[in-house]
Amino acid sequence: MNSKQRSLRNIIVMVSVHVAAIPAFWYFSWRNFALFAGLYLGTVVLGIDFCYHRLLAHRALKARRPVLLATAPFGVLALMGGPISFVATHRLHHIGSDTPDDPHNARESFWFSHWGWLFRRDPKLSNPELLQRVAADVAADPYLAFLERGSTQVALHLALMAGLFAFGGPGAVYWGMFLRIVFVYHLTFLTNSAGHTFGYRTFDLPDCSRNTWWIGALSGGEAWQNNHHAYPSVANLGHRWWETDMTFSFIRLLRALRLVSGVRVYCPVVEKVDELRHLEPARPRHDRSDDHLHGGGLARKQAR
Ligand SMILES: [Zn+2]
Ligand SMILES: [Zn+2]
Repeated sequence: MNSKQRSLRNIIVMVSVHVAAIPAFWYFSWRNFALFAGLYLGTVVLGIDFCYHRLLAHRALKARRPVLLATAPFGVLALMGGPISFVATHRLHHIGSDTPDDPHNARESFWFSHWGWLFRRDPKLSNPELLQRVAADVAADPYLAFLERGSTQVALHLALMAGLFAFGGPGAVYWGMFLRIVFVYHLTFLTNSAGHTFGYRTFDLPDCSRNTWWIGALSGGEAWQNNHHAYPSVANLGHRWWETDMTFSFIRLLRALRLVSGVRVYCPVVEKVDELRHLEPARPRHDRSDDHLHGGGLARKQAR
């Protein structure tokens, strides 16, 4: 697929999903709302934030195989592509944050970083060899490579749609599928746009990343972009008590159940925090051997 076909596909998908979500307003019921909320949390927290982002893109923790098998399909159901393309795009974002090399460079404009980048012809994002190279570790996993296939992604969405229809008719499909995807899209896109435009900065970095409280809870904890760009390979994006991080709470639950290990955390006073003692403290940026995955090779100002 060349860059023209990619941008055309994205325009068709965006318009179709938004139009298909409109009838949801005539089908409100608490059951449909519960389907919407459950699938929203499943796709955002389990699929995108936990699996695609913290586990695969940043390797901030290790997960037992069944955890990966169970959560990666939720990432696909966010309708943002397969794990290889998502991880590669996201790593390119970290490697060149808010520079012309960044696929969603927030210095271009708010709307470009929100979703304009999806419709622009960007040769980087339609170059499968480049994406495979940037996400080589993900592409090497046969299961994740299977999920990357277009046919697999279509089958998963059709299966969910059929299940929703069988369970609750068209209203369940409008709420659980289309309206949910619209919300997943815009909350995720807001971390790229608002999360690099509005909010406070804890760390003085050369990029535009901000900690944006008003998208904090709904984004599952991804809105603390300034914290995240300062320490990209840690699993906790919220550093202060008010920086809510639902995905990290989920990781702590999995850790308690012995389903994940090697969880890297940002905590400068980790030795004083009893509850975090069993977790691995984050190493400083200059001490990471896997910095190539996180853009750590770039010169950064010292975090305050
Ligand atoms: Zn970012
Ligand atoms: Zn990231």
